[in-house]
Amino acid sequence: MDCPVCKQSAMITLELNGVEIDYCTQCEGIWLDAGELEELLGDIKKSKDLINSFKIDSGNAEAARKCPICYKKMQKIIIGSTEPKLLIDKCVKGDGLWFDKGELHDIIEKAQLDENNKIKTLLTDMFSQK
Ligand SMILES: [Zn+2]
Ligand SMILES: [Zn+2]
Repeated sequence: MDCPVCKQSAMITLELNGVEIDYCTQCEGIWLDAGELEELLGDIKKSKDLINSFKIDSGNAEAARKCPICYKKMQKIIIGSTEPKLLIDKCVKGDGLWFDKGELHDIIEKAQLDENNKIKTLLTDMFSQK
């Protein structure tokens, strides 16, 4: 699978808390297949709340990225109603979600998981190494 941002750069598969994620070593973006965000969050209620807060940002000027699976242009999705708002890319067919560098971490923060949540610790480690 190629990175939707770097195009020609193939992503590597990482395992995060038992969930396989696709990670681009160049731009540090992360692709999650459908359902993987819920698995990563590991909290059904909180992940539902988070996903219910997804809003399509139709007037966004940021360049559309193409889904690495179906190659259709992805939608910009705003997450959360509180500032700072997060903007991610979502496949219109529902293949999955694209997170630019650090965005997955920000979303985990937004989901307000417990301080000792495993995934939060893993992501913090992953992005603070550099
Ligand atoms: Zn990339
Ligand atoms: Zn797609």
